Amino acid sequence: MALVLERKELICSKNFIDGQWLAASSGERFAVTDPATGERITEVADSGPDDARAATDAAARALPAWRDLLPKERAAILHRWNALMLAHQDDLGALISLEQGKPLAEGRGEVAYGASYVAWFADEATRIYGDIIPQQQRGKRMTAVKEPIGIVAAITPWNFPLAMIARKIAPALAAGCTVVAKPAEDTPLTALALALLAHEAGVPAGVLNVITASREKAVPAVGNWLEDARVRKITFTGSTPVGKYLARESANTLKKLSLELGGNAPFIVFDDADLDAAVAGLLAAKFRNGGQTCVCPNRVYVQSGVYAKFAELLSQRVGQLKVAPASDPSAQIGPMINSRALDKIARHVDDATSHGARILAGGKRLPELGPNYFAPTVISDATADMLLCSEETFGPVVPLFRFEDEAEAVKAANDTPFGLASYFYSQDVKRIDRVSRALEAGIVGVNEGALASEAAPFGGVKESGYGREGSKYGLDDYLSIKYVCQGGLD
Ligand code: ADP
Repeated sequence: MALVLERKELICSKNFIDGQWLAASSGERFAVTDPATGERITEVADSGPDDARAATDAAARALPAWRDLLPKERAAILHRWNALMLAHQDDLGALISLEQGKPLAEGRGEVAYGASYVAWFADEATRIYGDIIPQQQRGKRMTAVKEPIGIVAAITPWNFPLAMIARKIAPALAAGCTVVAKPAEDTPLTALALALLAHEAGVPAGVLNVITASREKAVPAVGNWLEDARVRKITFTGSTPVGKYLARESANTLKKLSLELGGNAPFIVFDDADLDAAVAGLLAAKFRNGGQTCVCPNRVYVQSGVYAKFAELLSQRVGQLKVAPASDPSAQIGPMINSRALDKIARHVDDATSHGARILAGGKRLPELGPNYFAPTVISDATADMLLCSEETFGPVVPLFRFEDEAEAVKAANDTPFGLASYFYSQDVKRIDRVSRALEAGIVGVNEGALASEAAPFGGVKESGYGREGSKYGLDDYLSIKYVCQGGLD
């Protein structure tokens, strides 16, 4: 099955600024390629600071009217956008798979997942309450009102080309902010298609602006937003070093930041776990998007009493995973995003084996399938001195670490600067309570591998960042609180 879009014009190749499709002011473009084959899909605008500024100008012009709409008017527009995303689920799913490589079922699933944030925040738009503060002095009324923070710059990664940008744009627009966005250079097409649908849904010109840039050009383009005092917030999902860079570089204008950064998720299997459930949970959590998500378990700690059994059950299942391009409907694992990603995975596996680890399944590249494929891999006898313990592998590799007791497992799990997702399997209620409290992470999965939901707060602690996406808390990142004190009422 070829990845063909029914509605061809969803493949856009220009920036979307002020409701118009514009080439980069320099006229430059860069190629977007299919990671399954390395073939060029199309070219998009390679934007610079002038294009970034034009996007901010448009967002500034659009802000007063958008902010002043009734919340239910903004909600109606967001609901139409959600409906259009779902109406184009097959095409958007194919586009995601085409530029990102994930299996088609996952591409379509991502459309539903991303759209669910749009529907959620459409409803939340009408529930932005403030407070009337209990009276402190006669003749004075004190209120706290929530206001949109202003222009938001959204910078997103390639692993969920639709969901990552939708779950930033939706709360921003719901809150009454306007947006300038730059998707990842590997996967700019889905974001542009979303802009087209937002326009068709009735999002007014200038409220949502999307520019694309190669990695080199992204630095000065985004740099323009970092320096521009009109941009009041940066919302970023990506690597920790880039998150720190954005925090540093935006300090001059003291922007509010939401940073969803890297993880190094532990997954703990205790002796008292339901092993079949733990294997199923690990497969679901680890192999989504070929292991390329920031909540993928990176370190799997298994208690010694069940280590051998768990390793055997897991290796059998991992050996059966079907690796194929997204165009094959039976594909479960697609190509990695690019050769850099593949090199990192291979480096981690080689480093582990050179430190005494054993490969129970996979462990190698699959060049016969295409340039960017790596076999789903299980590694036993992993230890803390291996690269795959301290760095996020971001690929289909499961390293199994052995532990003896609960305290040792919790200590090892927390022994990382990161704190995004964590998982553990146990059937002991007291242990479940203890370990949930002890894990230093923004998200804890207990006997569950699939955690993402638009109704839940997603985000990290420590160097995994701050801010939350989704849930009733997700809007706070796009709002500021104004205290109004009215006197002379006595
Ligand atoms: P990844 O390793 O997943 O590519 P990055 O943090 O490098 O994650 O990139 C995430 C997003 O941040 C992408 O949209 C990328 O273009 C952008 N980006 C990376 N470096 C910079 C930078 N120095 N300035 C602005 N944007 C950047």
